Amino acid sequence: MTNDADTLPTETTADSTPPMEGDEQMKHETAHALEGTYDPETIESTWQDAWVEAATYAYDGEAGQDPNTTYAIDTPPPTVSGSLHMGHLYGHTLQDFAARFQRMANGDVLFPFGYDDNGIASERLTEQDLDIRHQDYERQAFQELCREVCQEYEAEFTEKMQSLGTSIDWDHTYKTIEPRVQRISQLSFVDLYEQGREYRKKAPAIWCPECETAISQVETEDDERQSHFNDIAFELAGSNPPREDFVISTTRPELIPACVAVFVHPDDDDNRDLVGETARIPIFGHEVPIIEDERVDMEKGSGIVMCCTFGDQNDIEWYQAHGLPLRVAIDETATMTDLAGDYEGMHTETAREAIVEDLEETGHLRDRREIVHDVGVHERCDTPVEYRVSKQWYINVLDHKDAYLEAGEAMDWYPEKMFTRYRHWIEGLEWDWLISRQRDSGIPFPVWYCSECDTEVLAEKADLPVDPLSDEPPVDTCAACGHDEFEPEEDVFDTWATSSLTPLINAGWDWNEETQDFEMANPELYPFDLRPQGHDIISFWLFHTIVKCYEHTGEVPFDATLINGHVLDENREKMSKSRGNVVEPAAVLAEYPVDAVRFWAASAAVGDDFPFQEQDIVAGEKLLRKLWNASKLIDTLAPRDPPEPDELEPIDRWLLAELDDAIDTLTAHFEAYEFAKARNQLRTFFWNTFCDDYLEIAKTRDDSPSTQYALRTAHRTFLLLWAPIMPHVTEEIWQTVYGEGRPDAFESIHTKAWPAPRGYEADLEAGETAMEVISALRRYKSERQLPLNEPLESVAVHGPISGFETAIQDVTHVQDLEVLEEPPEITTEIASIDLEYATLGPKYGAKVGEIDAAIDAGEFEITDDGLAVAGETLADDLFEVEYERTYSGSGTMTETESAVVIVDDAA
Ligand SMILES: [Zn+2]
Ligand SMILES: [Zn+2]
Repeated sequence: MTNDADTLPTETTADSTPPMEGDEQMKHETAHALEGTYDPETIESTWQDAWVEAATYAYDGEAGQDPNTTYAIDTPPPTVSGSLHMGHLYGHTLQDFAARFQRMANGDVLFPFGYDDNGIASERLTEQDLDIRHQDYERQAFQELCREVCQEYEAEFTEKMQSLGTSIDWDHTYKTIEPRVQRISQLSFVDLYEQGREYRKKAPAIWCPECETAISQVETEDDERQSHFNDIAFELAGSNPPREDFVISTTRPELIPACVAVFVHPDDDDNRDLVGETARIPIFGHEVPIIEDERVDMEKGSGIVMCCTFGDQNDIEWYQAHGLPLRVAIDETATMTDLAGDYEGMHTETAREAIVEDLEETGHLRDRREIVHDVGVHERCDTPVEYRVSKQWYINVLDHKDAYLEAGEAMDWYPEKMFTRYRHWIEGLEWDWLISRQRDSGIPFPVWYCSECDTEVLAEKADLPVDPLSDEPPVDTCAACGHDEFEPEEDVFDTWATSSLTPLINAGWDWNEETQDFEMANPELYPFDLRPQGHDIISFWLFHTIVKCYEHTGEVPFDATLINGHVLDENREKMSKSRGNVVEPAAVLAEYPVDAVRFWAASAAVGDDFPFQEQDIVAGEKLLRKLWNASKLIDTLAPRDPPEPDELEPIDRWLLAELDDAIDTLTAHFEAYEFAKARNQLRTFFWNTFCDDYLEIAKTRDDSPSTQYALRTAHRTFLLLWAPIMPHVTEEIWQTVYGEGRPDAFESIHTKAWPAPRGYEADLEAGETAMEVISALRRYKSERQLPLNEPLESVAVHGPISGFETAIQDVTHVQDLEVLEEPPEITTEIASIDLEYATLGPKYGAKVGEIDAAIDAGEFEITDDGLAVAGETLADDLFEVEYERTYSGSGTMTETESAVVIVDDAA
């Protein structure tokens, strides 16, 4: 069946128009009736409230039950920034498709919700909201303000999430700052410390001067920036130099007061003679050694580079490898220090311009050219990062790269290609995971240090959570030196150090003081069945979760990961505030039903970035109406619970066999997270096969117990199959038509069992062909303005319709149906010749008119060489032939996809 679902006859098909034969509309009326047009505005919010009220989606599993009957999703806790964007809506809707399907198909589902309200994001939110600076408060006081601000946003977020109609279990929520989570996070720290997988080290670390904290590698990203390459002349300090000076190229001349060495590659014939000499730094005058090192890129600039503490990773490696001194010219706020002399107190960018100007004046600036290059910036604030020596806590990750790669390989990836991103991230790892942040809002380190010998003292597991700023250490004296005073660690954890524990938070991981072991309150949940998330946080959330869970449990935390793409605007451009093309979910939901928006969300293959498309939402809206109207029509055609007849008629058995087939395919699609395929297949089957074809036929057969039974079975099945994608409309129809009572006491459609094939056997091809024939005959009548029950005397069909002959006759009122063994005589004639004038014109010039005329007059011939016309032979690429198939026998012929139908109307 290839009917265009949006053509007019389709629109009216499942409408509430009464059946053609006899007014049966009132026949099956019962107490609850679907009335009027579908009103999503009222109905959707009614059910959202009812589901929350009745805890419809509560996880009912028992602690320790069979993990195979449990489906657990480790949902991403959104940062409580106050706004719900299209990405949230899309991501959570995809997770919800999986949750709803699994709940119906496979048993207990845990679909929890988390709020990420610790770390820099919530701190900045609080600062902005209250117009304050965290530096002006004590940690405790500032954290309380953060809690107050976040609470408001959390409530708002809950409301917005509930308005999406997702099947979240609102009894299973967590906040990444709540005491229970603080305890788990600190337990994780203590466990890894005891395993020897954490260390504290004073070393160069990546630093954000805007946020004034150390950050980890994953928090930096490359950003294209306008800059200048400056060629600066350095002098040789010795009195016996073969050369007076040399040139280095740099984009950061403000770093020259921090220069500690100059490097040359050992194979650099032009410059090798400089090695061992001493260079004098222009303006600042301090002298540094010239050293050889293989890490120098000879192709860049003059091949001679300066090493400053610190401009980049290379500087750090050289500093460590050659034991160079530390010169700190830039402080934690990107302000020049006293080492910068006259430039002290300037911001780095101001100092850069000032130093260049002065270099020009002293004649040391040899060249300056504009470039665009990648600069490492902090992903949260877009500030170029610096490298600072500071004392920080790290988790060892570099020594377990292989294990984390294997853990990634052990998971199923949807789509598979996303594994590559994970692999690339691990292969490119250069730093251990820096987890200490010099911020206020966050979970404190449960650590004190001996004020005498700096020995680390960790909190007892039983005492967690603790805040060393207000709590006492668990010992009175230092075990190493006997001293009795301790300094608290003031830093807090990186927010990812906590959000990487979500599977353990959801499974209730904790330390049991009695057994002296870790245990889980709900071990059946772990490992989780699914980790859904965006592709942009594979290196953040997924990687770090695998690190933490693997180190704590020795297991891969997920069976599968579902990576969703990003929502783009209608022109496939990235949505951004600066472009002004951001589509707000609130605006979309004000205009369209949630179910229709969900229909759109199921339109793309998982993993692909895909555009926001209003037309797809409109198509979803039409489908809601179609489902509603079809349901109303069915209510007029069949009693709600008809008995199954002993024998089904062929056409009804065929429909139920098709339905079995659809259930199989759809189940496979949902299991493989192929929501777009499931949606499209179900829509075609429901709209074209069921509404356009079968329902039209059923209208004429509503007194048949076989049809009544098939109609009701199909209707129930369709509602169940649509339930994961369109939860509101299906619940409303189900409760009205099949429900016991509502909304106070209802057994939700969403907790019903997913349909299973019933084992109906039928020749699907013959049934489909019969449908085509019926459609063709209906079209025949409507084109001639004949009533659909007008008898047709004689019809001949060539095509596989065996077993459906009587059905065709009954439905289309054909008195005599002949099945032709051989195809009827059809001649294929040339209908027209289309010339390619664009290429024909230049080649044949004035002759084109003559060619045209000859074709019009039918004076041409198609040969193996091409089109012979007007004394020329046109090559194949110059013309196209349109053929027409005509029937020369008596009667009117129609061809369908797999049949030929001839109505004998010659008389
Ligand atoms: Zn920053
Ligand atoms: Zn000590």
